[in-house]
Amino acid sequence: MIFQGACLGAHLGQDGIVEICFDRAGSPVNKLDRLSIAELGAATAAIRAIEGARGVLMTSRKEAFIVGADIFEFSALFAQSELQIEADIAQRNSVFTAFEDLNLPTCAVINGLALGGGLEVALTCDGRVMADHAKVGLPEVSLGLFPGFGGTVRLPRVAGVAVAIDWITSGKPQTAQAAAATSLIDRITTPETARTQGLALLESLLANGEWRRRRAQRRAPLATEGAWFAEARQRLGKTSQHQPAALAAVDLMERAAGLSRDAALELEHRAFAGIARTQAAASLVQLFINDQGLKKKSREYERIAGKVRRAAVVGAGIMGGGIAYTSAVKGIPVLMQDIRQEALDVGLAEARKLLAKQVDSGRLTQSAAAQVGTSIQPTLGPTDLGTVDLVVEAVVENLNVKQTVLADLEKRARPDTILASNTSSLSISQIAGALQRPENFVGMHFFNPVPLMPLVEVVRGEKTSDRAAATTAAYAHALGKTPIVVKECPGFLVNRILTPYFLGCLQAIHAGADYREIDRVMEEFGWPMGPAYLQDVVGMDTLLHVLDTISAGFAPRMQLDFPHAVRLFVDRGRLGQKSGVGFYRYETDPKGRPRKSVDPDTVALLASVQPNGPRNFTAAELRERLMLPMIIEAIRCLEEGIVGSAAEVDLSLILGLGFPRYTGGPLKYADWLGMNHLLARADQFASLGPLYAATEGMRQSARTGRTFY
Ligand code: NAD
Repeated sequence: MIFQGACLGAHLGQDGIVEICFDRAGSPVNKLDRLSIAELGAATAAIRAIEGARGVLMTSRKEAFIVGADIFEFSALFAQSELQIEADIAQRNSVFTAFEDLNLPTCAVINGLALGGGLEVALTCDGRVMADHAKVGLPEVSLGLFPGFGGTVRLPRVAGVAVAIDWITSGKPQTAQAAAATSLIDRITTPETARTQGLALLESLLANGEWRRRRAQRRAPLATEGAWFAEARQRLGKTSQHQPAALAAVDLMERAAGLSRDAALELEHRAFAGIARTQAAASLVQLFINDQGLKKKSREYERIAGKVRRAAVVGAGIMGGGIAYTSAVKGIPVLMQDIRQEALDVGLAEARKLLAKQVDSGRLTQSAAAQVGTSIQPTLGPTDLGTVDLVVEAVVENLNVKQTVLADLEKRARPDTILASNTSSLSISQIAGALQRPENFVGMHFFNPVPLMPLVEVVRGEKTSDRAAATTAAYAHALGKTPIVVKECPGFLVNRILTPYFLGCLQAIHAGADYREIDRVMEEFGWPMGPAYLQDVVGMDTLLHVLDTISAGFAPRMQLDFPHAVRLFVDRGRLGQKSGVGFYRYETDPKGRPRKSVDPDTVALLASVQPNGPRNFTAAELRERLMLPMIIEAIRCLEEGIVGSAAEVDLSLILGLGFPRYTGGPLKYADWLGMNHLLARADQFASLGPLYAATEGMRQSARTGRTFY
């Protein structure tokens, strides 16, 4: 043994080959953190000091090669100044360069996943073999970054500029077959023979001196074609406004192409330090950490949850049908009950359509799809629920109906069966009033369309037990959803925070703003669709009901005491997309999808809710009038303990509403703007009413400098 650390060891064999083996103690994976990089430096120094070595083989004893950099180290690293980040990154990179410059041929055995820093380490070698099931890639753009351990310098020099642009800007993991189609990978092997093949490759690089040619190539400038960069710039144009990393990587690779490796690396360090300080990087790294935290919480729910082996869905409508399909497809058989045969027929037909799509796309085999289909058992009227562990009620949104249906279900279910309601606006505690075992009752708020929407709010009423909440969260998780456990309040978490945004929009229209301009500004901010368009999609009648319920629950703050567009449109039968016209007009295109166009009557119609006539607003004012009440409401939810953490608020809004990802969610965005900024804006808009009023907690945070993260 010539070096032994906690993350890797280096051993000189009889054959003169040094094996650097990554095998992080006490962890199922290898990752590149400060410690492992320091150990790679120490191992390199030890190799340099010995005599008799002929080559170096880099291997992993884990299932993956190296999964990537340690993202949990990024927040502290990126909190430094740009100059400090640059120096820090340059120092870490000097370890990779020192390894690359060993006067010995080197070969990496990529036995499993090698992403980000994992691939960048392998790129410092002269040759690479790859196991056939492994994947490689540079996914840094998904964190608002680009590769910072030499990836933008070495990948173009090893695999070519076109490949580097594609892999770095897309961030997509690549299969062994795709990687071997480039000059990155010399041989694909089975996992069992990967090491032997690596040794054989090393011997051949040694025998023909090819390693010296490759090494010279990695140190030299590159021949490029300007068209590659121009095409990439055009492709990335629009997305780069909020997420500049991919475009910055393209610029960087173009500038660095004519330089030596060392000069190119210096450019990379500087550019990386700049990109690490962007809003997108800070937010997306936090989002990754939030997501990991939530996964951990899901595992905790699973520990106290009852097992759901069989479920039932009552009400086979839009929601119930989607829930039954999702349960079946995830391997949990489901009873689907309705009082109308047509509803059952429609629910089953929809499930069959979705299953056929899965077969067409190759995600399910025909026989697996058939089996899933038979695991949805339709039934009309009361059935014995003795074998059902959890029932989701998804009947019409009416308190009396739900209470009657649930009381009946409770009689037919086992004493330990969990009853969950998919209500979107009724009180869980009030519905529970009709039940004998309110502790077993919980809200399970899915979003529409169920198969696509990733979030489920698990709503605790006053009497909901920990076990009921945990079982429901675990069931949601088993359905492939992200569960967020929230304390009951009108609108729960997501719709409650959405309401002030809609109210801000309706107030701005009332004050004379043009709805098309509002949509333009908010889409430019990063929302998938502007708020007027979103209101059309939700449907004006549904929205009016939701707004009335939630605003009444938070009066006077959310009071709708002015003439507004939603009521106007409901009165005129302009219900939005479903009726063909709302703010916009909708026609069906040849593929059956709604196509939106401007309706010439809308502006004149809205004049009746604009007592002072139309007025021009700056984009900044519109953005603030809509976003500020939403951010303040998100802060209130955290202050009131509706959810346990800022991370849960932020993830819920991103998953449930499509809140722009590059902001990291409303609370990360609040941190980015700064509490003093928010308070100044709240004071500026004070005349608009209590929707814009800052909380005492916000003022306190401004005084103490406390942030959400
Ligand atoms: P829907 O009208 O499409 O379906 C309701 C179904 O319940 C109908 O098929 C009806 O026949 C059936 N039903 C009525 N009474 C019944 C009974 N006693 N026993 C069995 N079945 C009965 O409604 P939906 O849009 O699927 O909404 C269902 C629930 O989900 C509501 O509480 C709604 O607020 C909530 N929700 C809806 C959405 C959405 O976007 N549609 C989103 C989240 C939550």
